[in-house]
Amino acid sequence: MQYKIALAGNPNCGKTTLFNHLTGSNQYVGNWPGVTVEKKEGKFKGNKDAIIQDLPGIYSLSPYTLEEVVSRQYLVTEKPDAILNIIDGTNIERNLYLTTQLIELGIPVLVCVNMMDLVRKNGSTIDLEKLGKALGCEVVTISALKGEGCQEAAQKVIELAKTHKVGELPHVFSGSVEHAIAHIEESISDKVEENFLRWYAIKVFERDKDVMEKLQLSHDLENHIETHIADCEAEMDDEAESIITNQRYTYISRAVGDAVKKKHEEVKLTTSDKIDRIVTNRFLALPIFAVIMFLIYGIAMGPWDFSIGRIATDWANDVLFGKWVPGAIGGLLESLGVSGWLYGLIMDGIVAGVGAVLGFVPQMLVLFLLLAILEDVGYMSRVAFIMDKIFRRFGLSGKSFIPMLVATGCGVPGIMASRTIEQDRDRKMTIMTTGFIPCGAKMPIIGLFAGAIFGNSVWVATSAFFIGIAAVVVSGIMLKKFKTFAGEPAPFVMELPIYHAPSAGNVFRATWERGFSFIKRAGTIILLSSIILWFLQGYGFVDGVFQAVEDNNHSLLASIGHAVAWIFYPLGWAGDMAWKATVATVTGLIAKEEVVMTFGTLYNFAGELSETGDEIWSLVAADFGAVTAYSFMIFNLLCAPCFAAMGAIKREMNNRKWTIGAIAYMCGFAYVISMIVFQLFGLITGEATFGIFTIVAIVLLVGLLYLLFRPAPKVEEKLDVKVTK
Ligand code: GDP
Ligand code: MG
Repeated sequence: MQYKIALAGNPNCGKTTLFNHLTGSNQYVGNWPGVTVEKKEGKFKGNKDAIIQDLPGIYSLSPYTLEEVVSRQYLVTEKPDAILNIIDGTNIERNLYLTTQLIELGIPVLVCVNMMDLVRKNGSTIDLEKLGKALGCEVVTISALKGEGCQEAAQKVIELAKTHKVGELPHVFSGSVEHAIAHIEESISDKVEENFLRWYAIKVFERDKDVMEKLQLSHDLENHIETHIADCEAEMDDEAESIITNQRYTYISRAVGDAVKKKHEEVKLTTSDKIDRIVTNRFLALPIFAVIMFLIYGIAMGPWDFSIGRIATDWANDVLFGKWVPGAIGGLLESLGVSGWLYGLIMDGIVAGVGAVLGFVPQMLVLFLLLAILEDVGYMSRVAFIMDKIFRRFGLSGKSFIPMLVATGCGVPGIMASRTIEQDRDRKMTIMTTGFIPCGAKMPIIGLFAGAIFGNSVWVATSAFFIGIAAVVVSGIMLKKFKTFAGEPAPFVMELPIYHAPSAGNVFRATWERGFSFIKRAGTIILLSSIILWFLQGYGFVDGVFQAVEDNNHSLLASIGHAVAWIFYPLGWAGDMAWKATVATVTGLIAKEEVVMTFGTLYNFAGELSETGDEIWSLVAADFGAVTAYSFMIFNLLCAPCFAAMGAIKREMNNRKWTIGAIAYMCGFAYVISMIVFQLFGLITGEATFGIFTIVAIVLLVGLLYLLFRPAPKVEEKLDVKVTK
């Protein structure tokens, strides 16, 4: 027999930390809410006959948020054998609010007061026996972070699960409420299991819709119950649900007053509060954030002597994957005497393609490491809080900010980070727009055109970045006006955890998880596509005979480019550059790193191309006009992301229709914006002439403005959650 133990508690009370400790697993510990919307199951280390469920963090067993629904569903329908209720010892009152409800479920509960290291530091003491008596269950203390008391707690809760021993339930409510509850219990006693009786009765008293629906009471019974509730409400001059809430808090504060002795009663700001005063200050918050981000990107990708990420990346690109690896593999192949085509496939196809991606790994790891430290320290939840006010204006919540921040490194972990957003439509919108943010691999494309056409003006790079942000904002506003997305983003409820020193385990886990999703691309999709590209570029029909081609113009890739280039004619891709731009865009779908390299091949540049392709600048400049170049850049920045990111979209949407919709939206949006830019600005430079597409562009522009400024549809707010098991 396998015992089921549920791990329940408020957000950020340390559930996942304890879960990882007890199961030896590697679940991601996040500092903002919703990280554990999925339930996670694990086996106890050293005790295989018990499994433990890490439930989403909740404040109450009401059915108002996705987390509450998921947790409540699990507790009531799966009926675990025992509940391990973790509470944050630095905030006992608020945490016990959930505890009083868990106990009513009639499942044995072990209360674990966590964060004892902090509690001791504050000089508070907790009388476990008194607290246990008041709650009607056993109480132990632990520090999940330090691993203190965790094994003992695990032993205790497994024991509870085996014996099914439930303590005497305390009478939390006043006489008249208990009276009404007793009547309700009597009325529904044949509908529910005996040990759940009190919980159901209280929920009925609160007029909980889900519970009422489930119980299917007869009309008479419902009326009978309703008179008791109404009587009680009249007597207390309050609504049933709020009577329960208030009395719970009264009960808790009495119990805590008896059992917990705080050292200093005077109101003193904690260090954390003092930091927050500055960091979340109305005027300072954004400048401080900007400086921190500037430093982080500087260290990861900047031009300075201490930009370790960029230095390591340069080394990886120039030395490791530029000389050593090709040298070693090339030498090996030569000594084996492999045939020419195989040598070409391995060296020019696989080694060059995979190496181009792996070369970026050092700066990605540095970026993700620094972001992970900020997360673990507690700063990121402040940032989400600061950003919430801004993001709300265009229909996203502050929680969308972290995915976008991560996406500036790589879209794949960025899209994965959207998992932290509880509300379905907010999450979908975030997934659909995160790919607009210029990721690390799009930088060389910007660099190529900034250098080749615009004299390396910093404005090109800056504007590219802002076009990404503008695309997010415009999409947010536009999408919000469609019924599917309409309605306020979920209210921003979250815990700002106390600042604390980062834990190496958490930081490395987060860095690795994100970094690995980037590295994995190299071994899978990039490997495969490098081989295909190598083939398409190197072979073709010459005089009707299929063979290896010297001249790129005869390659299969060129044929494909020529065949589909007309699609992009309205974007100004015309003449001799059209097929090259088309081919580069297609290879960009495989990986954006490929775009510059593809231009290198197409312009017949033999040899090692620098990251931004300096060697072919003059050739590109001869082919692209300023507005054409810009239209190409915009299309490639905004259109569907690389295959790996599309894979991430598919995983996170977990729905074919939405996946295709998201990618189609991005491509369509990119096409429309590039076309408007080319057709209208092209008139000024003379690259475009007035014609049918000018009119189409104007119509599209008007349509876009209409979608942007039309009034929002009226929707009735309702919580839209689907629980999947
Ligand atoms: P969950 O939301 O309940 O899963 O909580 P997490 O496990 O994600 O923990 C939230 C934060 O509290 C993390 O930053 C942990 O490092 C921190 N934390 C967890 N347990 C302890 C503890 O015993 N002491 C201290 N000081 N911090 C802890
Ligand atoms: Mg968690």
